Amino acid sequence: MSSFSRAESSISASFCPGGVPKRPPFGAGLLMNPFTGLVNSLRATWQSGRTRSIEYRKEQLEALGRFLDEKKSNLFHALHDDLHKPAFEAELSEVSFTKNEVNYALNNLDQWMKDEYVTKNLATKLDSAFIRKDPFGVVLIIAPFNYPLQLALVPLVGAIAAGNCVVLKPSEISSCTERLLAEALPCYLDPEAFAVVTGGVKETTKLLENKFDYIFFTGSPRVGQIVMTAAAQHLTPLTLELGGKNPCYVDKSCNFQNAANRIVWGKFFNAGQTCTAPDYVICTTETREKLMPCLRQAIGHFYGCNPRESPDFGRLVNEKQFQHVQALLKCGRVAIGGETDEGDRYIAPTVLVDVKESEPVMQEEVFGPILPIFTVADLDEAIRFINCRERPLAAYAFSSDSKIVNQVLACTSSGGFCGNDILMQTTLISLPFGGIGCSGIGKYHGKFSFDTFTHHRASLLRSMGLEAINSVRYPPYADRSLGLLLSTTEVKRKGICTLL
Ligand code: NAD
Repeated sequence: MSSFSRAESSISASFCPGGVPKRPPFGAGLLMNPFTGLVNSLRATWQSGRTRSIEYRKEQLEALGRFLDEKKSNLFHALHDDLHKPAFEAELSEVSFTKNEVNYALNNLDQWMKDEYVTKNLATKLDSAFIRKDPFGVVLIIAPFNYPLQLALVPLVGAIAAGNCVVLKPSEISSCTERLLAEALPCYLDPEAFAVVTGGVKETTKLLENKFDYIFFTGSPRVGQIVMTAAAQHLTPLTLELGGKNPCYVDKSCNFQNAANRIVWGKFFNAGQTCTAPDYVICTTETREKLMPCLRQAIGHFYGCNPRESPDFGRLVNEKQFQHVQALLKCGRVAIGGETDEGDRYIAPTVLVDVKESEPVMQEEVFGPILPIFTVADLDEAIRFINCRERPLAAYAFSSDSKIVNQVLACTSSGGFCGNDILMQTTLISLPFGGIGCSGIGKYHGKFSFDTFTHHRASLLRSMGLEAINSVRYPPYADRSLGLLLSTTEVKRKGICTLL
């Protein structure tokens, strides 16, 4: 793996064994583009076929696993410096989470890579029909700031497993993790196949002018649109992992303390900077009155009477995020928390009540440690409210009555769903992770990552002989031949009686 920083990017055009493309597909600007040489060089590696063998993919995945093991304490430090992330959270949601993906890919790669044989019609009975798992080529992965390790490397696992070359663009906002990835990853991964590019809007804009074979973006819907527009210039397929407002319905039949513990944990993990965190609680006024003391109890129990002193509570990543989240405190009424310290980018675990639908806290993604509670008359109104808004990345429902949980699942739409807990659906490598509508396009994790970065190539191998059978489809056309041909390719409806 090689790395290109803002300063180095200007010389990367000379790192170009294949030279500048003769006909740049996206305007003459590419001739001046600082990353074109890098992309061409990765493409040359991909075209050499080196990244395709199973041995190579496993070698690189093993190396990524070693990076996670050997640099664990550096990673913990970087994540703490960036987000004040407790080691417990860093281990659980970043390092081990990514290591599980590495191990799962290593355990299953032989199976995933195999040609997948498919059923055949009569016309191809003697042939070989299968799906070949081809890599896309050179892929671009763009990561956000909030889980700066996991959200950069979990897609990378999928891209390596699928046999691609990769440009990895971590978030510049989590600058300590960005630096560590740029400095250390190239010591582990093949520098001719994998590169880290550092930088922000300017660098990513330039990168996106280049033609990639696949783009995997995680971040805000606003930037997702920019990335999709850039991808459209080259007709590049892409995955968008975006955000939104995740509803959490709490029913009147509940173990309120258990529900509160789980909501508080999921909301204030990483100081609320989690794309699948419950954005707001939605319930009746009666339920809110029962839930409030339990939320207060959970916050006190988890973070003490002064959460600022707690080693287990994170911070907003930067001044801009702090200002954005702090401004939301003006909405509704602060019922729990509300304290802030700008110098420390600290906002206490906060619960807001009496919030209005029109207020910013109910209009924008919160992405910080503020939990608004929005009250409705009943479950039907809650479902209507959820369905009137953009479809979220996650939806949650708490009830001791499984019918209620199932009703929320059946009557709403979201990227993922969890009944009676928060975030836990994301720990299952067997479940796809991704959004729907404005919360994203595509899915990954485990086998879904491999499939995302794989082109499923429809393949049919026929013999040179048996021309007499083929001749029924050649001109001059005859009705009798058509009938014969149709019968060899026909898909019959099951269970329909054809005697009448
Ligand atoms: P962001 O969209 O601001 O930035 C993401 C990446 O895009 C960064 O690497 C950044 O350098 C780059 N970028 C920013 N502006 C750009 C531009 N104009 N042109 C090209 N590239 C640009 O997101 P963020 O603030 O880092 O992360 C928070 C957002 O990400 C939230 O909306 C959150 O919900 C979402 N998110 C989604 C998931 C998911 O898995 N669905 C996970 C984490 C975060």
